Amino acid sequence: MSTFSNFAGTVTSTPLVRRSIGSLDQLAESLDAAQLAGHSVRTIGAGHSFTALAQTDQVLLDLDGFAGIEEVDALSHEVTFRAGTRLWQIPALLKPFGLALENMGDIDKQSIAGAISTGTHGTGLKFTGFSGTVTGIQLMLADGSRVRTSKSENAQLFEAARLSLGALGVITHVRLRCVPAFMMHAVESIEPIESLTRSFIERAALEDHLEFFWFPGSPRAQVKINTRLPADTERNAPGPVARWVNDELLSNGALQALCSLGAAAPRLNDRLSRFASRVLSDRSYTAHWHEAFVSPRRVKFTEQEYALPLQHFQPAMEELRRYFSSAPSPVLFPIEVRTASADDVWLSTANGRDCVYIAVHRYIRDAAPKYFADIEALLRPLGGRPHWGKEHSLKAEDFAQLYPRFTEFRQLRSAVDPEGRFLNGYLRSLLGAG
Ligand SMILES: Cc1cc2nc3c(=O)[nH]c(=O)nc-3n(C[C@H](O)[C@H](O)[C@H](O)COP(=O)(O)OP(=O)(O)OC[C@H]3O[C@@H](n4cnc5c(N)ncnc54)[C@H](O)[C@@H]3O)c2cc1C
Repeated sequence: MSTFSNFAGTVTSTPLVRRSIGSLDQLAESLDAAQLAGHSVRTIGAGHSFTALAQTDQVLLDLDGFAGIEEVDALSHEVTFRAGTRLWQIPALLKPFGLALENMGDIDKQSIAGAISTGTHGTGLKFTGFSGTVTGIQLMLADGSRVRTSKSENAQLFEAARLSLGALGVITHVRLRCVPAFMMHAVESIEPIESLTRSFIERAALEDHLEFFWFPGSPRAQVKINTRLPADTERNAPGPVARWVNDELLSNGALQALCSLGAAAPRLNDRLSRFASRVLSDRSYTAHWHEAFVSPRRVKFTEQEYALPLQHFQPAMEELRRYFSSAPSPVLFPIEVRTASADDVWLSTANGRDCVYIAVHRYIRDAAPKYFADIEALLRPLGGRPHWGKEHSLKAEDFAQLYPRFTEFRQLRSAVDPEGRFLNGYLRSLLGAG
């Protein structure tokens, strides 16, 4: 028996059976065996969710051996990936076809099935999260049957499967709407948090990809603007983009050193925050699409992220600034603010509304047990919906209020998996399943 641990090391489990799947026949065999033994089944991607979605003491499957491109439609730019494909593999897979992903988040460790299953997103009001770009999904259900879904084939199941928390069955293929490859001009600069807060939503509508990082309590923030350019634009980045100072301070070695200091002496957090925001510097470069979207994240942290309607951004920032000015900040880790366009995915945090994401992080050794609860209490009343892969305290009754199609999702889940083969305790609390 081998132990599973998520990225942060906050969720562990020791499944009775752990199997790496390399073919659809192997998957069918595994589901058959689980059914005979009466075991429940969880499927994982990269284990990069912060919550107990993949936790199981029974059967744990991964599709790492089932990766790559199955089909490319040269006309529509739709590409069908095997579900275990990791995001970092995708740029090289798409290169021969001159294609790119529409948008990406901060990292590329996730599998494509894992990314869509919790609503992974990047930033930009002209773009949806990953699930919004899905045009087809193939699943294997608990009884081993294979189902193809899209807007025109098993349409209800498609709507639910675009973001399904692994609760419907095992996703075997994901068809994504891709775009012609592009270059990106990236500009990073330091701005006063006050004026940035006032102009952020307006600017987010104009830029391709705008986001900012704010060390809690500091008067300044680091703003990142990525602008899409034609594919034949010359690359102008000295060496691998990720090696530069700002990445070290926002997410890697230097942040680790600051966080360790802060964890040992939390009263220093405010001073360290101001120091970090002063040291961040301006930079700009032009690089391939994936180089500009993604950067390494070597510091271990946990995270909570809430999606709010755009009009609630300023009130939310006012609440946060009041919170951080009333007492020394319990954490040092930068807060990240991003946006996404509305989509029609049933369980998407952007369902039916453009949204702004506010993500708070906690260094893994920070003793700040109330931090996430405090921030959740500020953001929930503003119409916040929590990211499905990140920490929150919400239950089925809360989601029923937040998502107009939540009941339909639950009904469909019961119809395709009446025995609850794909549920664990955590999912039962999220979905209110018996
Ligand atoms: C360092 C770091 C940075 C991150 N950055 C971002 C970001 O920029 N934007 C963002 O939105 N999120 C971000 N996240 C969150 C992350 O993208 C999500 O939690 C994502 O779901 C993780 O993908 P994964 O492949 O690790 O999936 P896992 O965490 O392994 O699984 C997630 C869900 O997918 C299901 N699943 C996986 N494979 C299958 C399958 N084949 N069939 C059915 N269900 C399946 C699992 O059962 C589970 O419910 C970040 C997380 C970390 C740790």
